[in-house]
Amino acid sequence: MPELPEVETIARGLAKRVTGDVVESVWLGQKKEPLKSSASAIAATLEHSRIAAVHRMGKHIVFDLERPGDVGRTLLSAKGRRANRPKASLTTPAEAGGGARPTYAQAQWIVHLGMTGSLRVCEPQTEVAKHTHAILRLTSGRELRFVDPRRFGRLSVAQAGDFDAAGIEPLEADLDRFLKLFRGRKTPIKSALLNQKLLRGVGNIYADESLFRAGLRPRRRASTITRDQLAKLLAAVKEVLKEAIALGGSSISDYVDADGEEGFFQLQHRVYGRESEPCLVCKTPIRRVVIAGRSSHYCSKCQK
Ligand SMILES: [Zn+2]
Repeated sequence: MPELPEVETIARGLAKRVTGDVVESVWLGQKKEPLKSSASAIAATLEHSRIAAVHRMGKHIVFDLERPGDVGRTLLSAKGRRANRPKASLTTPAEAGGGARPTYAQAQWIVHLGMTGSLRVCEPQTEVAKHTHAILRLTSGRELRFVDPRRFGRLSVAQAGDFDAAGIEPLEADLDRFLKLFRGRKTPIKSALLNQKLLRGVGNIYADESLFRAGLRPRRRASTITRDQLAKLLAAVKEVLKEAIALGGSSISDYVDADGEEGFFQLQHRVYGRESEPCLVCKTPIRRVVIAGRSSHYCSKCQK
């Protein structure tokens, strides 16, 4: 399952390849699961939109879309019921002050890769892979395809500003905000780190690795951890994620792929997946416990 660093790498790779391109047309497959918004809403939002930016929010890949000028006409001519929906957040020419200034309808296309989803930029003649659920034909002549064998991935659209992943971005968190997340929380720190409503996108591997670097046991109650220890933990979370992003960033190739679990990114795990192996610092065998249904790995000597 792609975690935050992989999603960041994929979003950066996509940003390089498709920013500025315009979606000419959209094909969506018959499977319902990947579509979190209706097929008609997704098609109507994407078609004729310019990809203004691609970025990551939590574990979501967000495409910021712009449609110059004739907003009303585009919506009315779009297939499906899209035109009848309220569109309060769209800027109308009148609101924008009219005149010669171009107006933009802003929207977002949001992709969650789930377990096995991937986004691929390819030439149109490239054979369409099995389990392709969406194809965006771009003005540049290329295609952006969403492939997902297990169909846990999700595609949706939002109007400007509507999409807001819960929680705070771990890489942007300052100490005050980070401390507030855990104040009075009696849950194990590991569960708190994985809680997506608190922090966006920190997954199991990175939580274990960060706790090891900070010297904290995964079962420690969040509320018992001192300010200094939390400061160390925040630094560790950022360090682990940044290292992983730096590694991921160097391995991306011509197409953007998220299902390459091997070779995509290799942060050397110090505790994760190393049950019974010696701690790299003190040689104590690494322990594995289950917390809230997730495996947690730690060194009983280095972590308190
Ligand atoms: Zn140790």
